[in-house]
Amino acid sequence: MINIPKGTKDVLPSDSYKWQYVEKVARDLAGLFNAKEIRTPTFEHTELFARGVGDTTDIVTKEMYTFLDKGNRSITLKPEGTAGTGRAFIENGLISGALPAKMFYITPAFRYERPQAGRLREFHQFGLETFGASGADADAETIMLADSLLKKLGLKVKLYINSIGCPTCRAKYNQALKDFFGSHLEELCFDCKARYEKNPLRLLDCKEETCKNINADAPSILDYLCDDCSAHFETLKEYLALAGIAYEINPRIVRGLDYYTRTVFEFVSDNIGAQGTVCGGGRYDGLIKQLGGNDCPAVGFAVGIERLLMVMEATGVEIPKPAPVKVYLAGMNEESRKQAFAIACKLRENGVLAETDHMNRSIKAQFKYADKLGAEYVAVIGESELLENAFNVKNMQTGESEKVAFAQAVEYFSK
Ligand code: ATP
Ligand code: MG
Repeated sequence: MINIPKGTKDVLPSDSYKWQYVEKVARDLAGLFNAKEIRTPTFEHTELFARGVGDTTDIVTKEMYTFLDKGNRSITLKPEGTAGTGRAFIENGLISGALPAKMFYITPAFRYERPQAGRLREFHQFGLETFGASGADADAETIMLADSLLKKLGLKVKLYINSIGCPTCRAKYNQALKDFFGSHLEELCFDCKARYEKNPLRLLDCKEETCKNINADAPSILDYLCDDCSAHFETLKEYLALAGIAYEINPRIVRGLDYYTRTVFEFVSDNIGAQGTVCGGGRYDGLIKQLGGNDCPAVGFAVGIERLLMVMEATGVEIPKPAPVKVYLAGMNEESRKQAFAIACKLRENGVLAETDHMNRSIKAQFKYADKLGAEYVAVIGESELLENAFNVKNMQTGESEKVAFAQAVEYFSK
């Protein structure tokens, strides 16, 4: 017996409707915001993520699924959706098309992490990217889409926003962080010691308890924003108020990826423990240039679909179940089974969910199976039914039966 790889999950037929529901709500909502779907490859050149996600991030330094293909190219399974979307945006010339360009994706993502509740090695994201708009109104619209999605799915989450400034103000802030953490170096975790040297901002993103405690007293980026970044943040707050979205400012939010500038945000649920961040996003004005395009501002977010479903499960959000089998047609002998088969074909052609026996079972066993399927009606065809060209249709809910001519079956079950 070969088992499923660690950190991956099967979505079983009995559960897939939940995924389809979340995906449909997300697609429909993105449509209302005038975003269209983009699908990019599951693997890309490793270089794309090294440049696009950033080589001081956890993702690039330790989480990527990277391998050499048979042509000796370094290939990586996508750990997130933004870098590939940015590449496609440049490579397909969309960057010189109508801007802003809004696009969404639903994609698997792969990260070599320590699997735990809400943390998988293959997981799925719904994400949105808006390219070309630099104003804070675009940030607010992005946040609004995420907010609407989470609300529509019945989640009660908290929105945290922050600004991590631009390269100019961040340089000053990084120095302030170095001054602060310099006196705590011994207490920091192994990873944070490296972050201290390479990218002090990342220190604030650490999930270790001791580092988190030290972080609580670190200087706030908001005290270091330049005038432009400050004004951008103020405008964002105004637009969020216009959208009627409640938020809390949290200067500790920096996001894990290197390409963020100015606005960053997270939606957090306290229903599923430590992995409560269901959505993360922000502005990444530096990314497109970093990937070889012209200067082009961008803002986006990604929602983790597994975490969404976990919160929905934990809080008892009802997901509409798919329609059950409308009618199960039971045959008794070869002739009546053929008739059942023919009627099932006719019903399906007319959009009625019909099922018949394929295992040569007794009538009793067929009733049992129909019950398991939750069939609304069971119709038995035997010799007398064949003679009469009609069958007794049993309503499984009420237990009542009604005689229906074969020729009337489509009409009867379509109602
Ligand atoms: P975390 O801080 O939890 O590691 P992250 O900052 O790495 O998250 P992003 O890269 O911003 O997360 O990804 C966006 C969303 O994707 C997260 O908010 C989360 O819902 C989901 N996500 C990220 N990594 C995983 C994972 N390994 N398993 C399941 N979902 C994930
Ligand atoms: Mg992570």
